[in-house]
Amino acid sequence: MNASEFRRRGKEMVDYIADYLEGIERRQVYPDVEPGYLRPLIPDTAPQEPETFEDIIRDVEKIIMPGVTHWHSPYFFAYFPTASSYPAMLADMLSGAIGCIGFTWASSPACTELETVMMDWLGKMLELPEAFLAGRSGEGGGVIQGSASEATLMALLAARTKVIQRLQETSPELTQAAIMEKLVAYSSDQAHSSVERAALIGAVKIKSIPSDGNFAMRASALQEALEQDKAAGLIPFFVVATLGTTSCCSFDNLLEVGPICNKEHLWLHIDAAYAGSAFICPEFRHLLNGVEFADSFNFNPHKWLLVNFDCSAMWVKKRADLTGAFKLDPVYLKHSHQDSGLITDYRHWQIPLGRRFRSLKMWFVFRMYGVKRLQAYIRKHVQLSREFESLLLQDPRFEICAEVTLGLVCFRLKGPNQLSITLLQKINSAKKIHLVPCHLRSKFVLRFAICSRVVESAHVREAWEHLQELADLVLSEAKE
Ligand SMILES: *Cc1c(COP(=O)(O)O)cnc(C)c1O
Repeated sequence: MNASEFRRRGKEMVDYIADYLEGIERRQVYPDVEPGYLRPLIPDTAPQEPETFEDIIRDVEKIIMPGVTHWHSPYFFAYFPTASSYPAMLADMLSGAIGCIGFTWASSPACTELETVMMDWLGKMLELPEAFLAGRSGEGGGVIQGSASEATLMALLAARTKVIQRLQETSPELTQAAIMEKLVAYSSDQAHSSVERAALIGAVKIKSIPSDGNFAMRASALQEALEQDKAAGLIPFFVVATLGTTSCCSFDNLLEVGPICNKEHLWLHIDAAYAGSAFICPEFRHLLNGVEFADSFNFNPHKWLLVNFDCSAMWVKKRADLTGAFKLDPVYLKHSHQDSGLITDYRHWQIPLGRRFRSLKMWFVFRMYGVKRLQAYIRKHVQLSREFESLLLQDPRFEICAEVTLGLVCFRLKGPNQLSITLLQKINSAKKIHLVPCHLRSKFVLRFAICSRVVESAHVREAWEHLQELADLVLSEAKE
C-alpha cells in the first residue's frame, strides 16, 4: 500500500467505522458463535502472495463481526464501560503514524513531555493534591500505564523495594530473601483480582480484610489484621484501597484507612479504576477525600473518560520511589540530558521498555470535549443508573443489593439464588442485552452497568421491560 492508496483506504476505513458505530444498535450485542468458530473460516497459514484490501474488508464482516461482542452497543451493560470516542480514535491514528517508542526523553521528547503535562491536566481536573503533580519540578508526577493491573504491580514492587531498603539500613545483616519472606500486603475482600495477582508476581503474602456491611474496608478490621501479623513476626508493608469496587462499586473508607497506613509506614495505593473518572465532577469529588494519605493513585480514563484503551493514569507522590526501584542504565539507552534533573525517562516508571504515544488521545479528547462536556457525560451515566434503580424499586419482586453511587446497579430477584441464576441464563440466551453477574457474600447478583457512549433512557427502559418479561417467565416456571 502506497501513500495514494492509503489516502483512499483510510477514508474508506473511516466511513466503515462511522457506519459500524452509527448502526451498532441494530447488531446483536452478544455473538452466536461457539468456541473455535474462527479457525475453519480462515487458511491455516499466512498467504505467500499479497491479497487486496477489498478481500480483507469483506472478511471483516464475514469472519470477524459475527464473533464480536459489541461493547459500544447501547444494549451492553456488562463489566464496566470501556471508553470510546472519535477524537481518541483519530489521535490513535496519529500515534500510529508517528510510531515512536518513547522510553526516554531523547527517544521522542514530545511523547514524554505531553504525557507529563496531560497527567498534570488530569490531576488538576480531579483536584489531586499538589504533591502528585509534576508541576515544573515537583517530586511527584503521573505516568500512563497500560492497565490498572500494571499500576498496582508497579506500586507493590516499589513499596517492596522501599521497605527492604529501609529495613536493611537499620539491620544490614538482614537479607532481601529474609525480609521478603515476612512481607504482607493487604486489600479488602472486595478488591479486584489484579491486586492478588500483583502480590503473586511480587512474591509476597497478601491478606484480604473483611469488608463491612457496605462492602467497605474499615479501620478496625485493617488494624486487627496488622496487629495479628506484627505479633506473628510478619512485616506489613502495602495496602490497596479500592474506590469503586468491581463487583458493586463500594468505596473503602480512605479517611480511616489512610492515617493508619501513614502511621505504620505502609505504602498506600488507591485503585479507582472505574470510579476515578467521576471525580472530575465536584459533586463526586468527596469520594476521593483521603487521597492525600496515599503514596500512589490510579484510575482508568480508558474506562469512563472517553479515552480509548489503553490509558491507565497513575500518579505517585515521590517519583524517586519508582525510579529508585526500577532504574537500570545500559549504555545504549543513555543520553546527554538524563542527569540534568529536568527530564523524565518513563522507562523507569513501568515494566516494559517500549511505550506508545498515548498522551495524544488524552490531549485530543480533553480539548475537543472540554472539562464541562466530560462532566456532563459522567452525569448522564449516573442519571441513567438512577433511572434504572428507580424502575427496580417499583417492582417488589426485585431487590437492590448495594448502594447506587455511580453508574452501576447491583440487583437480584428476591428469594433463592437459583431464581437470579435462571434469569441470567434467559438474558444470555435471548442476547437482547448483555450483562454479567457477581457474588456479594452468599448472594448471586446481576450487575447493570451503564456503559455505552450512546446509551439513552429509552435503551434503559427497553432493557428493563425485557428483564421484567424474563422475570415473569422465571417466576412462573418456578411455581410449576
Ligand atoms: C477494571 C478494574 C481493574 C482492572 O483494570 P485493568 O486496567 O484492566 O487492569 C482493576 N481494579 C478495578 C477496581 C477495576 O474496576
